[in-house]
Amino acid sequence: MTARLIDGKAFAAALRARIATLAAEFSATAGRKAGLAVVLVGEDPASQVYVRSKAKATAEAGMAGFEHRLPAETSQADLLALIAALNADPAVDGILVQLPLPAHLDEHTVIATIDPDKDVDGFHVSNAGRLAVGLPGFVPCTPLGCLMLLRDQLGSLAGLNAVVIGRSNIVGKPMAQLLLGENCTVTIAHSRTRNLADVVRGADVVVAAVGRPELVKAEWIKPGAIVIDVGINRVPGDAPGKTRLVGDVDFAGVSAVAGAITPVPGGVGPMTIAVLLRNALVAAYRHIGDPLPPEAI
Ligand code: NAD
Repeated sequence: MTARLIDGKAFAAALRARIATLAAEFSATAGRKAGLAVVLVGEDPASQVYVRSKAKATAEAGMAGFEHRLPAETSQADLLALIAALNADPAVDGILVQLPLPAHLDEHTVIATIDPDKDVDGFHVSNAGRLAVGLPGFVPCTPLGCLMLLRDQLGSLAGLNAVVIGRSNIVGKPMAQLLLGENCTVTIAHSRTRNLADVVRGADVVVAAVGRPELVKAEWIKPGAIVIDVGINRVPGDAPGKTRLVGDVDFAGVSAVAGAITPVPGGVGPMTIAVLLRNALVAAYRHIGDPLPPEAI
């Protein structure tokens, strides 16, 4: 392996420690803890794990977590009524509705009902639009976490060729917008891209957010490129009945060519929750009319 390992776990731990300090200052100023409400509809096992770890991280940061677990058959009207109540609740600074929602619920309407000032996931069209036109707003946690790692590695990203593989609203598109904001020359590749290997070969920065185990190969990577692997894929493990996690990048092969690379697990994953806490704290300070300076976190 020649690539530097980008230790997202350590970076996220340091970020969470800074957030905890600021959250304690917030509690002292506001006379209450910063509050994050998490809404989970149904029993999707992966979502339950995510919600549990978000609740644990919220408490560890010294913030108040408000968890709302609703049955899978919850009606759209009941879910929208809960969101309206959370929008109006002065103790709630941030609201997150865990996705995916059961099929009978309309994700777009649900997200559109969240107050954009409490939309700590950054999924509301108002926040997506703000990102697109370069105004401050909430940015989705995973791509913002990737950007923090890239800035830490590279300092300035200006003029670099960046290829984002994947065009989801949650990762790929906001990632591309953020890189454009850093003055990269950005290409978004996706399932219909022709000659993906050739496209990726021109990149100084590669962000893979595809959901295909070990898709990105060593031969695709320009020597010295920085590779950020967002993918989380569970594949059969070495022992019968066991599984293991791999990213969208062939880690063993690519780390022989790249300049730096995030591992899976321990790369982008821990950043997502840390940035959620960051967004919740930013929301809390804005809520009391005393915005955090951008350089605070
Ligand atoms: P998605 O399924 O919404 O989007 C996948 C994208 O990949 C699509 O835009 C599609 O066009 C593209 N794609 C599919 N096959 C392709 C191919 N063969 N070549 C090129 N592009 C292809 O997924 P998502 O929500 O953006 O998530 C992507 C991955 O990131 C998943 O593995 C997911 O589990 C992971 N993820 C991780 C975190 C984290 O915290 N680390 C957060 C969100 C998502």
